[in-house]
Amino acid sequence: MDTEHTTENSGKRALVVGLGISGIATAVRLRQIGWTPVVIEKAPTRRTGGYFIGLFGAGKAAARRLGILDGLRDRTPYEGVTFNVDRLGNRRRGLGFRDLPGKPWLMMRGDVEQGAFSALPADVEIRYSTVPTHLAQDADGVDVTLTNTAEDTSVTERFDLVVGADGLRSTVRSLVFGPHEKYVHRLGYAVAAFQLRDSLSDLAQVDGAILLEPNRSMWVFPFDDAPPTVMMTYRTEDVDAEFTEPPAQRLRAAFGSRPAGRALGEALQELESAENLLFDSAEQVRMDCWHRGRVVLVGDSAWCVTLFAGMGVSAGLAGADLLGTMLERHAGDAKQALTEWERALRPSIAEYQQLALKQRRFFVPATRFQIAMRHVMAHGMNKPVTSHLIRQLQVRGARIKEKDIAAV
Ligand SMILES: Cc1cc2nc3c(=O)[nH]c(=O)nc-3n(C[C@H](O)[C@H](O)[C@H](O)COP(=O)(O)OP(=O)(O)OC[C@H]3O[C@@H](n4cnc5c(N)ncnc54)[C@H](O)[C@@H]3O)c2cc1C
Repeated sequence: MDTEHTTENSGKRALVVGLGISGIATAVRLRQIGWTPVVIEKAPTRRTGGYFIGLFGAGKAAARRLGILDGLRDRTPYEGVTFNVDRLGNRRRGLGFRDLPGKPWLMMRGDVEQGAFSALPADVEIRYSTVPTHLAQDADGVDVTLTNTAEDTSVTERFDLVVGADGLRSTVRSLVFGPHEKYVHRLGYAVAAFQLRDSLSDLAQVDGAILLEPNRSMWVFPFDDAPPTVMMTYRTEDVDAEFTEPPAQRLRAAFGSRPAGRALGEALQELESAENLLFDSAEQVRMDCWHRGRVVLVGDSAWCVTLFAGMGVSAGLAGADLLGTMLERHAGDAKQALTEWERALRPSIAEYQQLALKQRRFFVPATRFQIAMRHVMAHGMNKPVTSHLIRQLQVRGARIKEKDIAAV
């Protein structure tokens, strides 16, 4: 059975940097193979809630292997409708997540994080407000200086392995592999995501909405039991400038001075006071190698595929799961384990990164022509005669198919 795991203590100790989905999943898996993980997290507490996540087949397969799938729930409201909307208040049936082949599960980022966290044994040590400030390794282990930023204290400890699961702007990566600029590639988009307090006034809670304009878009993702989340994304020529003013100001500027209309206007209004607002640029991390000696990167720190792939969570779960498998298979030979891990995982990650580049235009069309084509497609999907054909084209176009195949 794939959720049966070794619990015998191997005597090995790993430092996991980052208590996001990839870090928690890594700690869960390391513990399953008998390692002792110690998790450090920069923030003073664990994050909750957040933006929408589509969990495709590859993510579900990894979650099942990790033993966390039963703790996850599909929150797709199947009885709702997704509308294409505009500023004038027009709306017509569009294509939402629930229309995709393969039926991805829709949930919040915090749902996956909570699901993974629930699977983490209570005795796994977690240190909050703690960051790595120095790493030095030899053939047998890694000495890491851990700094508690709340108490302004530091301690140096030795580990058999260090896992950098500390996200896009990874400290482990910069300490061991070099500066961000070497690996982080800007795609030229800014993204805002947040949860609404209530549904937008022209939509039922179970309804979604998409507003597409050249080089900018707004998506409203509904859930069956919670207010929707909103994602606004737009093309930008100057990523640095996006961080020089409050996000709401940048968003208003990006969507222009034309009257916003009800849906966009209400969403922009809510954004001003949204809790847990995420505002960031879309960047891919591209590295030739994800491990060096006894230090390995997992998740966004290693390969951030961006939201445009819709596969970051799945990739993080798959990477964490496989890491444990390889360390168990090659017990006593960390080099071999990490080499085999990367060899098996890399083709899928490369696919997801390519997918993100292709799908940018799906999320943010560049021209009115592309938007018109999307509306034609949505119209076809809603007609029984053409919907099957379009689904087949989507699958053959390999956009969905590769998301449903287990990453390894
Ligand atoms: C708007 C949006 C929509 C998305 N939609 C999808 C989707 O539909 N499907 C999907 O699969 N993926 C999606 N993604 C991508 C997905 O959310 C990410 O790929 C995934 O959450 C990354 O998890 P992670 O654990 O690798 O990194 P993170 O979530 O970034 O976690 C890193 C953790 O490390 C901590 N940390 C950072 N620095 C340090 C340090 N120096 N020391 C200690 N701790 C540190 C951080 O506080 C954080 O807790 C989306 C992303 C966005 C932004």
